[in-house]
Amino acid sequence: MSLYRTKSELLRNLSETAFKSAKKLENNTWEYINDAGNRTIRLHDTDIMEFLPRNKVRLSSGGWLTMTTKQRLNNHLPRPLVISQDKRKWFIRGEGGKEIPFFDGMVVPLDGKIAPSKKIQAKIRGEETKQKRLDKLVENYCKALRKQLRETGLPMPSGGDCWFCCLRNEKGVSWGELSSDTEHLMSHLKEKYIMGSLIFNAMQHRGYKAEFWFGIDQDKKLEDYHIDTYVRAVRNYYRTKMGMVR
Ligand SMILES: [Zn+2]
Repeated sequence: MSLYRTKSELLRNLSETAFKSAKKLENNTWEYINDAGNRTIRLHDTDIMEFLPRNKVRLSSGGWLTMTTKQRLNNHLPRPLVISQDKRKWFIRGEGGKEIPFFDGMVVPLDGKIAPSKKIQAKIRGEETKQKRLDKLVENYCKALRKQLRETGLPMPSGGDCWFCCLRNEKGVSWGELSSDTEHLMSHLKEKYIMGSLIFNAMQHRGYKAEFWFGIDQDKKLEDYHIDTYVRAVRNYYRTKMGMVR
């Protein structure tokens, strides 16, 4: 996400007409007219807003429920519409302060008169179940990780780890990060596949000097404090990468 990319990279899959209409709004954020004739705002690879006929807008995070996505949406949503966050969930607030849960692909009226239809309610229930399932997978993974760290110590990154997790470019960014692929992460969660490269990436993602954290306590039992740090980093990593609100 932090890599700087050019206009032609960010808008590579647009038609020539759409590409020509593109204007830069903010960092990594472009506005263009899509082939249906709708004004569209793209952040990185995601069309986060498409202004539809009859005064509606389609919203999407592309799975990136991050501060930046929220900020961009709020910058370009007309009031009274605003995206808010409560604990780890996003909501969209409309006229009279009415709120409904946010989900990707939702269509809301620009006048802010939001009311959950039956279809939306069913979709919301579906999203909640999905989030809950993901939450559980992450928690079970973290439990298994904690147990393994306690019993057998810290696994070192190795060339035998998942390729998306262990292959890196010269700057140390993993292949998985570069390609934004999350399928491998999902399968690690399901299989409780614990490996050094993933923990390393998680530490790096959290802003730790991963090389340092992998250089300590090789032969000793890990301190609880260290175990907590590794587990927290991995949990945070999954939450970010799987598009869960942190
Ligand atoms: Zn992997």
